[in-house]
Amino acid sequence: MPKSLKIARIGTECVACGCCVQACPRDAVRIVYGITARIIPELCVGCGRCAKTCPADVIDIVERGAAL
Ligand code: SF4
Ligand code: SF4
Repeated sequence: MPKSLKIARIGTECVACGCCVQACPRDAVRIVYGITARIIPELCVGCGRCAKTCPADVIDIVERGAAL
């Protein structure tokens, strides 16, 4: 699969609810240390499903270069 030009970016206000983990079809987001979600860049295709499900509205879909 070609690399997507888009990627999800998690904001600092993440409450680690796990909704994005459930929503992601690529298993590209994990809860780390029980405190925040983190994107796995190699797996994320920027589809935006996680952003739609986030109750805290802290996920943005951005250009790949902007997320790093
Ligand atoms: S943008 Fe899509 S692939 Fe990337 S973490 Fe969110 S749901 Fe998963
Ligand atoms: S859905 Fe939003 S608040 Fe919940 S873990 Fe994912 S980024 Fe954090």
